[in-house]
Amino acid sequence: MECIKCGMEMKKVNLFGLPGVNMTLSQGVPNWQGMEIRSAVRCHVCPGCGYVELQAVEPYKFR
Ligand SMILES: [Zn+2]
Repeated sequence: MECIKCGMEMKKVNLFGLPGVNMTLSQGVPNWQGMEIRSAVRCHVCPGCGYVELQAVEPYKFR
């Protein structure tokens, strides 16, 4: 994956909120099954300009 800002190859990194906990996207409200919609997040950083890109691992869950 190339950086959209400067074109340098981006590196996959881990994004942490709390120590040892991977960041998670959440819709914040329960769906019809009473479950909150959540998806893990992939994170890439550009070593050139510092641009950070986040990508949901399971984006279809938010349809
Ligand atoms: Zn860049």
